[in-house]
Amino acid sequence: MSDPNSSSLRTPKRLLEEAKRHMQEDTERAALLYEQAVARARLYRDQETLADALNGMAKLAHKKGESNAAIFHLQEAREIRRLLGDVRGEAGLLSNIGSLYTDLGSFNTALDFLLQAETLAGQQGDVLSAGIATNLARVYDNLDEVQSAQDQYQKALKIVQEAGHRMGEAILSTNYGEFQLRRGNLPRAEELLGSALDITARKGMVAAEALRHLGVLYRQRENTDAALLAFHEAINLARSSGAIDSLIEVLISEAETHLGQGHLTLARDVLFEAEELARGSNRQRTLSRILQLTSQAMEQDGEVQAALHTAREAHQLEAQVLKAEAEQRTRQLATQHELERARTELDQQRHRYETERQAKEKMERESFERMKELERKALYDALTGLPNRLLLADRFRVALEHASKSGTRLALGVLDLNKFKGINDNLGHHVGDELLIEVARRLEPILRTEDTVARTGGDEFVFLIRSVADSSAVLAVARRIMQAFEPMFHLYQHHLHVSPSVGFAVFPEDALTYQDLFEKADKAMYEAKTRGSGFELHGMQSSDRLAPVTLESALHQALKNEELDIVYQRFTDPRGKPRGAEALLRWHHPMFGHISPLEFLPIAESTGLSVPIGAWVLNRACQDAAKWHGLILSVNVSAKQFSHPDFAATVQQALDKSGLNPALLELEIKEELLSRHGERAQSRLSALRDLGVRLIIDDFGEGFTSFSALKHHPVHGVKLDRNLIQDLNPEQPSSRDEALLTAVVRMAQALGLDVIAKGVETEHQWEVLTSLGVSAVQGFLFSRPEKAF
Ligand code: C2E
Ligand code: CA
Repeated sequence: MSDPNSSSLRTPKRLLEEAKRHMQEDTERAALLYEQAVARARLYRDQETLADALNGMAKLAHKKGESNAAIFHLQEAREIRRLLGDVRGEAGLLSNIGSLYTDLGSFNTALDFLLQAETLAGQQGDVLSAGIATNLARVYDNLDEVQSAQDQYQKALKIVQEAGHRMGEAILSTNYGEFQLRRGNLPRAEELLGSALDITARKGMVAAEALRHLGVLYRQRENTDAALLAFHEAINLARSSGAIDSLIEVLISEAETHLGQGHLTLARDVLFEAEELARGSNRQRTLSRILQLTSQAMEQDGEVQAALHTAREAHQLEAQVLKAEAEQRTRQLATQHELERARTELDQQRHRYETERQAKEKMERESFERMKELERKALYDALTGLPNRLLLADRFRVALEHASKSGTRLALGVLDLNKFKGINDNLGHHVGDELLIEVARRLEPILRTEDTVARTGGDEFVFLIRSVADSSAVLAVARRIMQAFEPMFHLYQHHLHVSPSVGFAVFPEDALTYQDLFEKADKAMYEAKTRGSGFELHGMQSSDRLAPVTLESALHQALKNEELDIVYQRFTDPRGKPRGAEALLRWHHPMFGHISPLEFLPIAESTGLSVPIGAWVLNRACQDAAKWHGLILSVNVSAKQFSHPDFAATVQQALDKSGLNPALLELEIKEELLSRHGERAQSRLSALRDLGVRLIIDDFGEGFTSFSALKHHPVHGVKLDRNLIQDLNPEQPSSRDEALLTAVVRMAQALGLDVIAKGVETEHQWEVLTSLGVSAVQGFLFSRPEKAF
């Protein structure tokens, strides 16, 4: 649930309602809420609420005696109602304005507004009309137009009576009664005041007022007892309803009555209470009246000195009040005039501002579009749509700042297409262009969003790679770049292989500025071009030499740099008795990290490197196995090794050097290799067998081509291809997979060969293999390749 007070929920309407609720007990809060309501209503253009809120603000201002501010608000509210076409709303506001001018003593202005209000309200005879009539009556009363005042009172009274608005009738009867009383029409006054008392059941503030006027009426009739009774009742009511003005007025009336009767002590007692109240509530004008009466009582009491003193105070007070009132009035009139001027000016300014704002917005929009277009042209390469040199330099500046601050690296790469000029010259520029577009299309997706590839001219592309952890991150990008060029380019009717040369340099190791980094990367790129190695990374190594970054060149150094290693994976008989372990080659490149033999062995093969590497494995593994106390060592033999004329000699050397028993060395030769070498394979196998080592056909069962020749091969056993067992499924016990496996195993066994199963991962596979009577099992189910055996 969200907080109902959260400002987002406070619509202008809500604020207004809240303000209205606080109007009675917390005017400060109400004032704030009204202000907010007004501001928000303006913002949301909620005219209805704006008008209401302005009306509320006017009421508050009036309460505080700030009549001019009140009028100002009312006038704006009235304007809104007029624009909204809310005739009755407008009439109500005009009536309020008129009432305020009446309070200010501007009776003619008040009359103007009230008559307008009357016209707008029409002859509807409702509460609105009653209010207007009452206000009109007050003005006419002040203007001494007794008949008109009386007419309006009558009219108002008739309306509220017909509407059954009892409270309204009581108030109106009281006011009208007081009017009749002042005008000397005592019977009518008595009738009206009596009716007010009936309606209110002699309770509350209105009853107090009616009783006070009745008291005055009785006094005029010289019925002092009745007057005093009425006053006492009024005093009690006013006291209990907290109507302080009413209370003071009755006290004064009572005192006057006592004075008229010559009851000086009583008069002075009552006056004393009235004085306290007036002083306490800062009612200056009333206080002055009270002091005058007090002075009168004192004089009658023979206290001439005190009477004089009090009279002086009363006069001073009155003078002050009059002066203050006069000043305030001038001020009010002046400010009101100013306010009105300011308002018109504000309206005009608002209009001007709005027109200007719209024009400015339009201009800004247009120039923004223009800027964007210009920027696009200035910062992006027209052909490929990639960032151009300018934008790259800018992004580099930002990236460099960030890298320096955060202490991270960034890499700059320069890519150049090999033989681009030839393509351009021989196949035409349209083909060259198409190639560049396609290259851009392939390069873009290989970078992260925070990185940039730009075309900086001709066939030159530049990479900006941020937050580079180490050189392997750069190499990863370099690899992805090389991969992007693997598929052929289809350009018009031409199908081409295009290769790039890329050079990288890294901040801060290689250089600290864009220019220097660029030069270093460019140099690395040329290095790559001359070597034909694809990509080169400048620096990031202890030595100054350019690092070899292709697997091939790295592999060359792997042996020298002792980056190669061997792990051993055990194999056992089906019951778990150890039989031996297979040597598996590992390569930990300082930058590439761990590289799988499946990845680098094909390269080693294609470059002939597998021969020295294989020799190294043999030597090292034999040395290790010499300490194994009778367990078998299995070593994989590659095709190049196998076909190398010196291979048997190499094996012999390894055995000699390590002192390993030849019967404990098992050479694994792939099945496909044997089928490829045909007759020659057989003689090679024989030569090896003569060394006394065991020969195993690896990945057996993959291709059956050599099956017929199998019986002629002098081998000791076969290692089943992983494919044969990997799909064995306990859900389908006699599947085709199992049938095939069974056939292969039976065949090998029929030829008197040991059968070894590798890649055993599940209990089920193990069960099946055991039931088939294989001689050894190897796989993750039993053990992983490990550093030492
Ligand atoms: P391989 O001869 O089939 O060697 C067994 C491979 O299977 C090893 O992968 C081993 O880690 C993995 N392996 C062992 N048990 C499981 C198992 O339960 N499930 C599965 N899925 N795999 C298992 P590795 O070490 O990556 O070797 C891959 C291949 O590289 C070898 O396959 C082998 O042909 C070749 N190789 C490894 N070392 C040498 C070597 O020194 N010389 C030559 N010429 N080839 C090698
Ligand atoms: Ca093997």
